[in-house]
Amino acid sequence: MANYSDLDIKPIINAAGTYTRYGGSLVDREVIAAMEQAAGTFVDIDRLLKKSGQYIAELLDVEAALVTSGAAAGIVLASAACMAGKDKQLMASLPDTEGIKNEFIIMKCHRNPYDRSVKLTGAEFVEIGDAIETSLWELQGAVGENTAGVIYSIQSSMLEASLPLKQVIEAAHEKELPVIVDAAAEIPPAENLTKFTELGADLVLFSGGKELRGPQSSGLITGRKNLIEACRLNGFPHHTVGRPMKLDKETIMGFVRALELYLKEDHNQRAKRWTQQVDYMVGELEKIPVVTARKGFPSQPLVQPPSVPRVYVNFKSKELDKEKAQEKLSVGEPRIVVVTDRNSLILNPHMLQEGEEKIVIKKLKRIIAEYS
Ligand SMILES: *Cc1c(COP(=O)(O)O)cnc(C)c1O
Repeated sequence: MANYSDLDIKPIINAAGTYTRYGGSLVDREVIAAMEQAAGTFVDIDRLLKKSGQYIAELLDVEAALVTSGAAAGIVLASAACMAGKDKQLMASLPDTEGIKNEFIIMKCHRNPYDRSVKLTGAEFVEIGDAIETSLWELQGAVGENTAGVIYSIQSSMLEASLPLKQVIEAAHEKELPVIVDAAAEIPPAENLTKFTELGADLVLFSGGKELRGPQSSGLITGRKNLIEACRLNGFPHHTVGRPMKLDKETIMGFVRALELYLKEDHNQRAKRWTQQVDYMVGELEKIPVVTARKGFPSQPLVQPPSVPRVYVNFKSKELDKEKAQEKLSVGEPRIVVVTDRNSLILNPHMLQEGEEKIVIKKLKRIIAEYS
């Protein structure tokens, strides 16, 4: 059996966060067990999607839910659902949108690398606002006969230029338009699993492979029953625009198990661990003269969610800056990945395993010593 080492793949210590490019998160053994159990038999996949969605909706106490192959896939399905509904003719037409309402209103400050998933369905954006502000009248004025819905990305709600979700939902619903909310990486807090639908959002997308620690290629949509059904019908195994966003039965059952585990988990305990890890790292770094370290929370969209505390490290040395330290951490043994923002190198405990904070500090100290 070939393992990572046979393929010359080195393990990574993840002090960056739930980045998909590093594997997102690590699954619990019980999730693997659920996947193993699912692997032994054939099942009707469409029915499995329907039934697992119903089971999850009951678990979360939301109107309806659907397992997807990720939040980005969820954006595709949600967009298609708002455009084609459950109409066989329209569903079969996408991504050709002739005769189909295909415009989604989006605030300019909400544009992000994931929103191309909307356009994958053949949809177009109608942008409102700018980097400084967005006004409600712009949203109201942008609605036309081709408008299919409104897209809202929770991470951008941190920005001054963003309208609050509640206002957007009210304005959209006044015009009978659905609101799709990208909340891919907005958990914890766990309450966010239901917060946005409670505010009235019509379809809300989450990653399954981030904080929920399901299979990396899983995701979740929650929302209105009619639209969730449309999401399912616009996805695989139906021959639609969502057909390539395939999910196996193992992933579906693995995600269900991961969600069950998440809902039973002691979230305060995890939050406490993150705080301890951060406090330890700040304490150790404070002893070193060439850096300053402080505990903080992101105030700009970067690696979501902002609810997890971080260590912000600033370098006072001429020889070593944050980019160089980041690069040095990422090579050699052990490989440690971190992110930087405009000012600091950031240590994020979210995906650090217990005790790994010590390894991170040891290596960072070694790098700093090399340059001082
Ligand atoms: C991670 C992320 C996605 C994509 O989620 P996947 O589950 O990896 O498809 C979409 N939007 C935002 C804001 C994200 O952070």
